[in-house]
Amino acid sequence: MFSPEQTKILTQQSQQFLKDNNPLQPLDAGVLRDVLRFHEYRYYVLDNPLITDTEYDILYKKLEKFEQENPELITADSPTQRVGKNLTNQFATTVHLVPMLSLENSYNAEDLKDWDRKAREASSLNNVEYCVEPKFDGASISLLYENDLLVRAVTRGDGIQGEEITTNIKQIRSIPLHAPFSKYGIQQVEIRGEVLMSKKSFKCFNDKQAEQGLQILANPRNAASGSLRLKNPQAVADRGLDAFLYHISYVIYDKEIPELMETHAGALQLLWECGFRSPQKEKHVYQNIEEVIAHIADYEQLRDELPYEIDGMVVKVNAINLQDKLGMTSHHPRWAMAYKFKARQATSILRSVEFQVGRTGAITPVAKIDPVFLAGVTVSSISLFNEDIIREKDLRIGDTVLVERAGDVIPNIVKAQQELRTGIEEPIVFPKHCPVCNSDLHKPEEESVWRCINPNCEAQVVERIIHFVSKDAMDIRSFGEANVRKFYQLGLLKEIPGVYQLDFQKISTLEGFGKKSIDNLQAAIEGSKQQSINRLIFALGIRYVGETTAKILANRINNLWDLKDFSLEDLMGLEDVGPKVAGSIFDFFQAPESRELLKKLENEGLNFTNTKRGKTNEQSILEGKTFLFTGTLNQLKRSDAEAMVEEKGGKIVSGVSSKLNYLVAGEAAGSKLEKAKKLNTVNIISEEEFLKMIE
Ligand code: AMP
Ligand code: ZN
Repeated sequence: MFSPEQTKILTQQSQQFLKDNNPLQPLDAGVLRDVLRFHEYRYYVLDNPLITDTEYDILYKKLEKFEQENPELITADSPTQRVGKNLTNQFATTVHLVPMLSLENSYNAEDLKDWDRKAREASSLNNVEYCVEPKFDGASISLLYENDLLVRAVTRGDGIQGEEITTNIKQIRSIPLHAPFSKYGIQQVEIRGEVLMSKKSFKCFNDKQAEQGLQILANPRNAASGSLRLKNPQAVADRGLDAFLYHISYVIYDKEIPELMETHAGALQLLWECGFRSPQKEKHVYQNIEEVIAHIADYEQLRDELPYEIDGMVVKVNAINLQDKLGMTSHHPRWAMAYKFKARQATSILRSVEFQVGRTGAITPVAKIDPVFLAGVTVSSISLFNEDIIREKDLRIGDTVLVERAGDVIPNIVKAQQELRTGIEEPIVFPKHCPVCNSDLHKPEEESVWRCINPNCEAQVVERIIHFVSKDAMDIRSFGEANVRKFYQLGLLKEIPGVYQLDFQKISTLEGFGKKSIDNLQAAIEGSKQQSINRLIFALGIRYVGETTAKILANRINNLWDLKDFSLEDLMGLEDVGPKVAGSIFDFFQAPESRELLKKLENEGLNFTNTKRGKTNEQSILEGKTFLFTGTLNQLKRSDAEAMVEEKGGKIVSGVSSKLNYLVAGEAAGSKLEKAKKLNTVNIISEEEFLKMIE
């Protein structure tokens, strides 16, 4: 739609508008409209924006302000005069019962006070009551319930119409398929909310992908919106998505309006009581804008501690009748205002790429950029994961790059601003030899990672020790990466067991090692001998064995040595363990070097037994057993039943397969029951039998 030439010009014009703080001139309005349309197209149609959201907002506001002051110059096709944007077509297109509008954005207390003043004037009130809630950073959805049943789920799309994604939405466990709206006399209701991926699910998912050499997701927001349009609903389920529902947009009653519907906070409570994850606990009601402003400042401090990403707060007029009075523009409701937190995206220059050797020999390219300050941290190094990613993003040395940091998620290069290239940028050359030991690098056909396969490669040895002592592994505090490197360089530490044979006499002569720090280090090393075996398994650094797999293995054994008797088939029978992972574990425990290593560690007095197993026997009567519930349960709520299984050490799986031990079939059980019957390996039990079993 836009030629490279146009793209270049429009990008330059955007930069000029962004730099210029003067009010817009009438002659420039048309240009700015084109610039905005261009960026909308990049964002919504191509899903490949060239500027940040904040920059877009600044441009949008500039035009909006101009049009407010010069209403006679508004054109019918101005970006301010429509709700939305074009759709890319993949799923069936569906029209929303009520358009899904955007929110107006504010960035400081003044903006909020201004907005409050208008609301007070329009309502002739001294103070307006507000409800404040987080602005969830995910993908917006609209759900339709009829006679208490979820009948349709739609993406936002262009605001007027979106794509129907009901099957995918049904994979999200926090969205009830059935909700008792009829209790409130509600027959039909359209509700709005945001689908998100928690930071934890995001990390788990990426860890698993990385363990298996598969594609990594960039950030939780993209992960959520990308998930909604996956072709395979099971893949959606695997991502562990979540959803907050925060708005009732359309409703048909058969009696009078429920009292709760008189305020926004009440509507959140109604949703909560109907079984939705509404921001019932996250919301706060205040009597004036000053209190709102103070609350927002406090909440921003909490941002990194929340389990999910938020990009700001949303302030809403609490009384619904006042909301109606204030009404909406074609773009946003006048009764709500978003407050955006500090940007977590910035641009920088890619200066060079370093190639680091990991503990499994994997070569990781790391981008060195001009330092940028991103929401509290200075970022100058960013992992690029592998060669494919460099190619996909077509990064070059000298490129202007868009950098992002999402919460506690590691920083990421979103893309290169190719339009800004001058021609002197240079391609990134991937090495053919290990940058540390110089041996040839290898890459199996189906993988994306190059490796140094020299087991004595110094870089790998050091990385293995660093991994061993790290927080998620043996957690030897005050050891740390820097000390491992230092001790290794000085010849005080040569391999993992050496961690337990340090010459503290010599260390005490080093600079920075007083008595106190040596005592601490010694105590931490001593203490690590009692770590649980799942940590020890993880610490060994077996390829593809992350924390999850390490726990699964630990749960199956009484002593670490048991693992050397596991056959490939035994290993493949474990949940989440495929042939690749099984092969790697098998090879590790059969290799003489590994056995040698284990022997040394055992001699150093490390705990090799599963201490958890014996103790919790009574509680964990379902240990290692998998369950699935299907059909309608009479006595238990499905979620309670599932929680009971997990409490007793069992696990809930999402589908019928040979790995399923028990299918609890309620009334009117359907295809899952049929499938389980065919499989012959699944125990099919009733709800009563299940209750007896866990008693
Ligand atoms: P924006 O995309 O910046 O215009 O912001 C508007 C979007 O914020 C809406 O379309 C919603 O998807 C999203 N949003 C997130 N949290 C909330 C919330 N608590 N209330 C309303 N909208 C929200
Ligand atoms: Zn090497």
